[in-house]
Amino acid sequence: MTSLDPRAPLVLDTRELGRRPGSQLEMVRTVPAPAELGIEVLHVPEGSPVELDLRLEAVMEGVLVSGSATAELDGECARCLEPIEDEISVRLQELFVYDDVRHDSSDTDLEDETSRLEDDLLDLEPLLRDAVVLALPFQPLCEEDCPGLCVECGARLADDPEHGHEEPIDPRWAGLQGLETLQDPSTTTD
Ligand SMILES: [Zn+2]
Ligand SMILES: [Zn+2]
Repeated sequence: MTSLDPRAPLVLDTRELGRRPGSQLEMVRTVPAPAELGIEVLHVPEGSPVELDLRLEAVMEGVLVSGSATAELDGECARCLEPIEDEISVRLQELFVYDDVRHDSSDTDLEDETSRLEDDLLDLEPLLRDAVVLALPFQPLCEEDCPGLCVECGARLADDPEHGHEEPIDPRWAGLQGLETLQDPSTTTD
């Protein structure tokens, strides 16, 4: 009775490792990224290659997985909306407990959070998701000091640091500017 699909890219088969504590298995593979990996403004494109470099180690209670995952990132700058292409590399470490190992039943909360092997399979996806999301900035920026957009015309200030509006801009705005001047109470005099 298992809910894991052994053919899923992020489901690892530990049969080759065996259960003798201390035995180890290096696992290097590239898998397609699952959907919605990351956050809305910065994510790993679905299907793009995720490089896994893992070590599986049999311990008394289960299988200890450690290693790294490296993936592409797509997103946009939180200040200027410029597309961002980056790469992320996260550390992975988790103990997957054998599904036939019983724990103290009074400790049900802990039990729920325990990652478990199902038969000889383990699902790396939740671990990968958590690691990627934790590693992402809440507000991705195209560059550390991105100046953002001009509040008047929306131009990207990083492209035009000397940006200013002393002189008339786009003629399409000229009419509007005149209107604003008329409505601005500070400019009306008796
Ligand atoms: Zn930016
Ligand atoms: Zn402007």
